Amino acid sequence: MSDQQGLFDFADTPDWEHAAAEDIQVAEVVFNLPLEKPYTYSIPDEFRERLRPGMRIKTSLGRGNRRVVGYCVNVRQLEDPSRRLKPIEEVLDAVPLLSVSMLELTRWIGQQYLCGWGQVLESVIPAGVRRKSGTRLVQSYQLAEEAESLIAVRRLPAKQQAVVDALRKSTAPIPVARLCELADCGPGPINGLRTKGIINPIKVRSEIQGETLEGTETVADLVLNDQQQAALDTIVAALESGQHSTMLLHGATGSGKTEVYIRAIREVVSYGRQAIVLVPEISLTPQTIRRFRSRFGSVAVLHSHMSDAERHWQWQLIARGEVEVIVGARSAVFAPTPHLGLVVIDEEHEPTFKQDNTPRYHAREVARFRCAQENVPLLLGSATPTLESWLRATRNHDTLISMPDRVAELPLPPVLIVDTRNDPRINKGASIGRALYTGILKALKDKGQVILFLNLRGYSPTVWCRSCGTGVKCPDCDITLTWHRDRQEAVCHSCDYHIPAPEKCPSCDSAAIRYIGTGTQRLEEEVNALFAEARVLRMDSDSMKKPGSHDIALEQFRQGEIDILLGTQMIAKGLDFPNVTLVGVIDADTMLNQPDMRAAERTFQLIAQVAGRTGRSSRGGRVLVQTTNPDDPSVRYASEHDFLGFASHELHQRKDSGAPPFSCVARVIFRGLSEPAVHETASSVADKLRKTAREHDPQVRVLGAAPAPITRLRGYWRFHLQIAAPTHERVKTIWLRVEDTLKLPDGVEMAVDVDPINSR
Ligand code: ADP
Ligand code: ZN
Ligand code: ZN
Repeated sequence: MSDQQGLFDFADTPDWEHAAAEDIQVAEVVFNLPLEKPYTYSIPDEFRERLRPGMRIKTSLGRGNRRVVGYCVNVRQLEDPSRRLKPIEEVLDAVPLLSVSMLELTRWIGQQYLCGWGQVLESVIPAGVRRKSGTRLVQSYQLAEEAESLIAVRRLPAKQQAVVDALRKSTAPIPVARLCELADCGPGPINGLRTKGIINPIKVRSEIQGETLEGTETVADLVLNDQQQAALDTIVAALESGQHSTMLLHGATGSGKTEVYIRAIREVVSYGRQAIVLVPEISLTPQTIRRFRSRFGSVAVLHSHMSDAERHWQWQLIARGEVEVIVGARSAVFAPTPHLGLVVIDEEHEPTFKQDNTPRYHAREVARFRCAQENVPLLLGSATPTLESWLRATRNHDTLISMPDRVAELPLPPVLIVDTRNDPRINKGASIGRALYTGILKALKDKGQVILFLNLRGYSPTVWCRSCGTGVKCPDCDITLTWHRDRQEAVCHSCDYHIPAPEKCPSCDSAAIRYIGTGTQRLEEEVNALFAEARVLRMDSDSMKKPGSHDIALEQFRQGEIDILLGTQMIAKGLDFPNVTLVGVIDADTMLNQPDMRAAERTFQLIAQVAGRTGRSSRGGRVLVQTTNPDDPSVRYASEHDFLGFASHELHQRKDSGAPPFSCVARVIFRGLSEPAVHETASSVADKLRKTAREHDPQVRVLGAAPAPITRLRGYWRFHLQIAAPTHERVKTIWLRVEDTLKLPDGVEMAVDVDPINSR
């Protein structure tokens, strides 16, 4: 991996090699490979004027002659004129795809997350932008250089003359179809002129336009309460300082955070700058988007259903500074705004801000780097911040802004913990216990709406054989199948493997198959049976497959056409419905029992967020949490709306065990089709790491190698190890020492995840 230079045995000596060294410019190029350092190439004369950092080029790589696309990341003086370099063979872009500061940002991501600079570029620049989607090459014609002299010696037929006249009037080549229109002719006269050499064909790129991004600006500003005004004052002071800082807006659910973002962005727009707003998932935030659209003149929403052409079109508009506000999921942090003024990350605790394939970046950390680079503030908002962000704020690395109260003096809803261990209904196999049942009855009688939260989809989470005592598992993954009753199938939620619901156990042939546990589908059935009059809607990724279906469902709920909304995480986020008077958490244990260092944190977040969906009007509201762990601290603190108490408790635990945020962790995952090969590779890498750590930095700990919690996934065996140290630098130093010496056997792949947030 150390052979980073263009090539050494290149035979032809380019002319310029004899020129004075200071005249010679070379290009540094990165490819879509896990390498950090760029390769150096010579720049042939024809490209010398044109080539700039941020453009893609084509050249050959390594000792073969395979031509590949790379990104020019720097143009600099050649230091050693005796060095022989391969030339760049083609320049693919007319203008750079990225600014110099965005190049710097992508380089930092490669270093921070231990992957190649070129891999980052490949992921950050949308495919539609690279392919110039929505533009196409159109056959066009222009007058030949010798056209006038050729015409002078002959008389042209009328139609041909009309074509020539049209071209004379135009400064640019004219596409065939348009030329036929202008000269009122078919292709005949054009071909005739071409044969005579009077006109030349040329391909020209034309742009297809996407939808416009006009906002409506129809809604006026609200009068901020004191708490919101104080928060806004702090943010505006940060904006005016022209300095970078990170602010954590810790505001209760319904404290009016979004309104504060909007006002801060209004300030940014008044300076002629742009703001980026990152939200956890675009399809789940239609309300937020509508709010932004109704308050600004131009809002670009970057969502995943966009075609390549639309994406390209938006990218161009943003790059030209024609968009005031960009709202999108994590990748919107790369929006090419020319004058960034502020980045807002709403619900900063959401795990979707971390990408789970290469480059495995966290949008919050990328935003932090980008904002520091461009000297603008970063604003993080949440009712339940991550312990990482909380620790930084309480240590004064970041500024803490608190909005503890809901707007309009609404109280946070009372949360009741219901111990289901002795519940007569639950013991008979129901999911809705006695207290929740009476609660729903009462809410419906009072014409209130109900939200029921359960984070397991499907009908029954486990298909179980009573004879051999094992769950029926996916043959490719280490996961028991979930019964989807509506499809009459058993489905793997990891790879979507599915079989007709088995009547016999696939391993022992016994007919003693049972379906255990409750998923959202079974809950829906139970709710329908118990509350026959109520109108029920289920929201999970099975029922909401079509783009836009969330929006329709939520609108129905808002209009009061639905009485009970039940679903997964999808319904826990950001929704603001004043008429919801009861929220039920069906089973807090499913979150608590995850084999994950963050299980307690996630449980707290989910209960607090779900609770945030009720009590949003004078009608009030309450929350019932069913659990068999009523004394668990995360459940307790959530029921008391006590984030500070939870954070201090959990931070103590983390500190005692040396876990993040008190240490930095990199997880290395190995996978392959042969279990022994994967196991052996992971173990030998772990041993090497341990040895290197002992020699160079004994405080660095290496855990594993061990089978990953999901040991088989999509047919691959998976093993992992973890490197932990007090700082990122120290993790990286040990890793890079070992990585440079690694040679993976064929069939074993490796991925590094810095600051992992799941350990599956
Ligand atoms: P959060 O993002 O903190 O959950 P929102 O910004 O969504 O809170 O505000 C919750 C509700 O309160 C929304 O319906 C919003 O329109 C309303 N709201 C926010 N600020 C004010 C205010 N200053 N006066 C009146 N209503 C407000
Ligand atoms: Zn069996
Ligand atoms: Zn599977």
